[in-house]
Amino acid sequence: MTYETDELCSCDSASGLMIDTGLPPSNAPNACDLYENVAYDQYWRRADRQKLNELEHAIVNELLPITGQRIIDLGCGYGRLADCYMNRFRISVMFDGSRSLLQAAQKITGGKALYVLGDINHLPFKTAAFDCAIMVRTFHHLDDSLSFTKNLRRILCGGGTFIVNYSNKRNIYRVLKYLLGNRSHNPFSCEPDTAEPNFIHHHPDFIRKLLENAGFNISDIRGAGILDKVAGVLPTFLFPILPTGKTLAKVFGKLFLAPWIFLKATVNAGETLLPTTAAEELLNCPQCGSQPVRSPSGFYCKECQQVYPLDDGIIDMRISTT
Ligand SMILES: [Zn+2]
Repeated sequence: MTYETDELCSCDSASGLMIDTGLPPSNAPNACDLYENVAYDQYWRRADRQKLNELEHAIVNELLPITGQRIIDLGCGYGRLADCYMNRFRISVMFDGSRSLLQAAQKITGGKALYVLGDINHLPFKTAAFDCAIMVRTFHHLDDSLSFTKNLRRILCGGGTFIVNYSNKRNIYRVLKYLLGNRSHNPFSCEPDTAEPNFIHHHPDFIRKLLENAGFNISDIRGAGILDKVAGVLPTFLFPILPTGKTLAKVFGKLFLAPWIFLKATVNAGETLLPTTAAEELLNCPQCGSQPVRSPSGFYCKECQQVYPLDDGIIDMRISTT
């Protein structure tokens, strides 16, 4: 099933304002399944998403290290941001819970990455496997951000970089709505806002504590979703002269006014980067933590007998329950 372009966004019923979630209308119980067979690229090709897409590329390009050894794109989708990092790292791993999106990512990146289908709550990679991780438009789907952050810390080496964005519950739109009495959830309270299914909004203080407690140091902040949003709703012929908000992204980020906050965080201390040359050696059995071995159909864990099929260049590292 594919969704028509107009269906690929949600409407904030409290205000009537469109929020740029990119989510299809879905009742999928698992966030992993939200994007299966969804034409997510159509959402980002819409004229009213052009400026936001440009801005997010600009922010990611600024925050990413100039170069590195291995990067993982967590929730890579169809590879929207792959052009930001593919040429900067020796090995790129594209990780997603949707096979159809990974197939699209394969096409967009010409098969030059390692494509891993998996559950983000059970990252199937070795300790200190990467020196960089990027996670854009995914954090708000996490059920257990505490467990995820600890796991992420495990697969990053000491000094490694994490680029992430999250939906800011304390953004200027939500604050104004709250002050005008149009929203019941207090944007100033620290706990996550879980009112919308599969879409969690976080307070900046919550994210800061989460990352610091896991051993990260936040070094840079950007904000998106204000000027680019204004540009996105104005007539198309004005696009070339309207700003994306790149120059003000630092201000919007530091004041935490923007709906989307981008962070750059660094692992304070930890293991040195795992010495390996082949991307497949980065894999770990998500069930028992052993290294899977190659098998005729893909990969196999001798310890727990889990089978991980390799199909058309995509390694399925999900734990099978059958
Ligand atoms: Zn195993």
